[in-house]
Amino acid sequence: MLLKKILDFKNTLVFRLTVLYAVLFTLLSFLAFSIFYYRIYTITLQSLDQELLHKAQNYAAIMAHLGIKGLKARMALEAESDYDETEEFIRVVRHDGQVLVTTEMSSWGALGQFNRLAARMGDKNSHFFNTLPISGREYKTHLITAAIGTGLVLQLGETLDETERFLTIFRDLFLTLLIIFMILSALIGWFIARRALLGVEEVTHTAMEIADGEYDTRVQLTHRFEEIKRLGRTFNHMLDRIQKLLRSMKEINDNIAHDLRSPLARIRGIAEMTLTTKKSIDDYKSMAVSTIEECDSLIDIVNTMLDITEAETGVRKVKPEQFDLAALISEACELFRPLANEKKIAFMAKLPDRLVFRADRKSLQRIVSNLLENAIKFTPPGGKVSVVLLETESGVAIRFEDTGPGIPAADQPRIFERFYRGDNSRAQGGVGLGLSLAKALVEAMGGVISVESTPAKGSTFVVAFSR
Ligand code: ADP
Repeated sequence: MLLKKILDFKNTLVFRLTVLYAVLFTLLSFLAFSIFYYRIYTITLQSLDQELLHKAQNYAAIMAHLGIKGLKARMALEAESDYDETEEFIRVVRHDGQVLVTTEMSSWGALGQFNRLAARMGDKNSHFFNTLPISGREYKTHLITAAIGTGLVLQLGETLDETERFLTIFRDLFLTLLIIFMILSALIGWFIARRALLGVEEVTHTAMEIADGEYDTRVQLTHRFEEIKRLGRTFNHMLDRIQKLLRSMKEINDNIAHDLRSPLARIRGIAEMTLTTKKSIDDYKSMAVSTIEECDSLIDIVNTMLDITEAETGVRKVKPEQFDLAALISEACELFRPLANEKKIAFMAKLPDRLVFRADRKSLQRIVSNLLENAIKFTPPGGKVSVVLLETESGVAIRFEDTGPGIPAADQPRIFERFYRGDNSRAQGGVGLGLSLAKALVEAMGGVISVESTPAKGSTFVVAFSR
């Protein structure tokens, strides 16, 4: 159990980010310190080189002016001052290795006999530097080997005690700081990762609450990081949509149950009555006719619902083609004119001679006939219905105007929902799917459908497509 917890923790983003942050920070600190250390080391050696070279040049000048005796005298003079033979040495040797003058070399180990360097002094080199370890000494020695006069070589050496001691202190301090930095960076990394991921945990927590059935729970958008706020907003938006979808699916289910039950009950009633009572052959025929009618209306409902779903989900195969939209509307008007005449409705169509449009022809036919059918159906005798086709700046618009009962403002947002039927339609036929289908088809073609309506005055439906 504990092992699983540890393994789980190892896989958390917080842990990974913390480790990454700590490793990166430590590596960068190490790199920065190493560069710094190396620079200090080289600068110190360079200044020591300068110092040794300067001294060698001084001795070379004395040698040139006063000869070996003058040099000895100078070395003796220096030995009397603060000179420490264990810290530095001077000697003059010949190319063949014979030592002409030297300070006390007993404490310099093998370097006392070391004159190979002098032998290496060719004619080309005027001087060179070395850093050598001395057996029995903790720190190395830095020395210059310089030509002074013909066949003569001057060697000056200085122990690196001070420099190396300083660098050791620096190195120890650097290691201690590195450990402190490593711990601090892990802590800071952990803190930052925790803070950043707190919002993700909130979303997880909310998702868990929802999984437990609390569907109204939402993520609090108080987090300070914009990315987390955006995640919360998107999550909440998704939840709103799912909730809306669930609600509408429930409504649809209720409506389907309600709308399919009545015709089914009617079919069953007719069949039952025919079976229980003795009937003539004509009664059986009329029962068959009623059953066919009820079945047709059921098939109609089911087909329309499938069409709506297909259009909404984009499954419906649309075949965009070029056609004269004015002609299409005019044909539809001619189909509905007898109905309008029958109801004594003044029916008008205001269409341009020709308006070529590219869209799915069949979908447009269904949209136009659904809206025309509603306008004529809801307009009382003596009223007016008109269809206007306009070419706008951005595209085309079709207006369906009627002087029917209008739609109350509260109903207007709902009339496009599946199975929604307003109070004004009680006396009329219909199942409440016409506008849902029109909206689904219009939107599937990238258009917009809208309604303006004043109760008791009439309604205007507008279908608009941009080109
Ligand atoms: P149906 O016509 O089968 O009832 P629709 O989806 O076509 O279903 O319309 C939904 C509702 O919108 C109707 O029940 C009605 O209340 C309202 N409606 C639609 N068109 C009009 C109109 N032209 N005038 C008044 N009300 C309308």
